[in-house]
This record gives sequence, C-alpha cells and structure tokens, in this order.
Amino acid sequence: MLATLNDILPKARAGHYAVGLFNTTDTDMLEAAIGAAEELRSPIIIGTAEVLLPYGELKLIAPGLVAAAKRASVPVVVHYDHGLTFERTMEALKLGFSSVMFDASAKERDANFAETAEVVRIAHAFGASVEGEIGHVGVAADCDNDKSDMYTTPDEAAEFIERTGVDALAVAIGSAHGVYKTKPKLNIPRLVEIAAKVPEPLVLHGGSGLSDDDFRNTIREGIAKVNIFTDLCLAGDAAMKEGLEKGLGYLKTRSLKVEAIKAAVMKKISLFGCAGKA
Ligand SMILES: [Zn+2]
Repeated sequence: MLATLNDILPKARAGHYAVGLFNTTDTDMLEAAIGAAEELRSPIIIGTAEVLLPYGELKLIAPGLVAAAKRASVPVVVHYDHGLTFERTMEALKLGFSSVMFDASAKERDANFAETAEVVRIAHAFGASVEGEIGHVGVAADCDNDKSDMYTTPDEAAEFIERTGVDALAVAIGSAHGVYKTKPKLNIPRLVEIAAKVPEPLVLHGGSGLSDDDFRNTIREGIAKVNIFTDLCLAGDAAMKEGLEKGLGYLKTRSLKVEAIKAAVMKKISLFGCAGKA
C-alpha cells in the first residue's frame, strides 16, 4: 500500500530500526526492491533522485512506481530523493509521489530554510511527507567526508525542523554519496547530540560502503531511514557481467540482475532490523 514517511519512520525511530530508501530507476530495480520487501514483510521506500532522471525519466517511471506501491502487500513510500529544483519537485508531487526530499543544503542557509519551508507547505497540502537536509552530505569521490565543517550541528538541526516543518531530517555526520575511496569515519557523538535535540526521524545518506557496525551504531542512536543506491548498482553490475560471460543473453541476464539486486536489498533490510515490521 502507498504510504508516507510519517506512516513508517516515527515507529522506526521509536523501535530502533531503520527503513531503507532503495532508489529504483527502472522496472527491474522496482521488481527487485518490492519483491525483497514483500518477502521479508518489511516497509520500504522506493523512488528516484533528480540526478538520476537522465537514466529514467520521471514522467515515464512515476506511474510504475506508484502502481507498484499501491498493489504491494507492505507499506511502500514513493519518494523523490534529492529534489534540487522547485519545478521537478512539484512535478513529482503532481505525478503521485507520496514523499519528497527537497535538498537546498548546498545553498546559503537562509535560502535552504525558506525554500524548504515553501516545499513543505505545498507537499503537505498534497498529503505528502518531506525530508530536508541541513549541513551538507557530499560526494565520496571528492573526499567530502573529511570536511567536518559541513557536519550538521544540533542547534541548527532543531531550528531547521521548527522553522521548515520537515517530517524527517538528513544529517551530515561523515557519510558521503557514491563509492568511498577511503574508509569513512562517522561522527557518532555528533549524531547522539543531534538526536537528543531532535525527536523527528533522522536520515543517513551515503549508506553504500558503510560497515555493518556503522549501521547498527547509527540506527541505535536515531537514524530511522538509510539511503542505499550504489550497492544496488554494484550488485547489478556483477550479475550482468556474470550473465554476459556465461552467454546467457539479454533476458536471462536481466533476471540474474533482478535476483542479485533483490538479494542486496534483502541483506540491507535484515541488517537495518526492518524485517517483519510491515
Ligand atoms: Zn543522498
């Protein structure tokens, strides 16, 4: 069934487990993600991100995402990840996404507050939930995870939630997007301080490449949503390579890929403690 972040994340934070956002840019990834969630009786968040639209146009994939969520036997949030422009974020809402992230974290602080608040007002009128970001989660290949001056502070996190009305907050505590060049080091004490001031669900971006302990430690301290995408691509890459090397052809290679991505999603759902929480 179609759900919002508010249907699933407060419960996750209170219960010390996390729901995964697995971006699904095509129907192969969609089939894998929904299949994994249903098999493990877990809520799940699917969707796409603005930077991923060149690989799956919003107008084409949105109807599939929404239809899959509605017919699923577990709660499914259809989430627009990292909305960077007002126009495309509004388009996602109009196409039936039940949740959006609006990410103005790379902009000036005042612009981030004002633009996020505007999106929240509109999204809530659609009945959709909103995630915002204060501090800035960078790109792993740029070694942005060393830039601790971009980390979220507890005071600005609390102020951001109060002034914008976001339902969930992405925090910058040392994780980054993409493939890590060096082992990331998460600032758990910072997360503990933020969580003490902010009762809302917190979100960890850049989850691919973190250790199992990183997930256990952050979920214990208030992370209720974890974003995973790169790991799914890596699982799909390996399966396609195997299929082609074995001479399986397009359709059988495609099925091998779906199975591999499904297995990767199931592994993360179990690790996040989300299995059986639907
Ligand atoms: Zn992200």
